[in-house]
Amino acid sequence: MAPRSSWFKPKPIGSVRMKNGYRYVKVAEGRWEYEHRFVMECLLGRKLATWEEVHHKDEVKVNNVLGNLELKDSVEHGRYHYYAVGVTT
Ligand SMILES: [Zn+2]
Repeated sequence: MAPRSSWFKPKPIGSVRMKNGYRYVKVAEGRWEYEHRFVMECLLGRKLATWEEVHHKDEVKVNNVLGNLELKDSVEHGRYHYYAVGVTT
């Protein structure tokens, strides 16, 4: 049996692939996660909740360096993008 924290490694299995404009990392055999969520989970040392989202400060979805990522709750995140696109009504 692998320890519970076995997924918690900065370089999980090493494989990265692109899908839908996002980078995915392989965390276990047959299991892929968004790289930006995975990086944030490694930083926090825990899994993200479903209402937690990871924002890309420079809006580049494949730029998953730590300094570009910011944890937001889904409401705050949606609001940020709503106003960021300049909707004034
Ligand atoms: Zn965002």
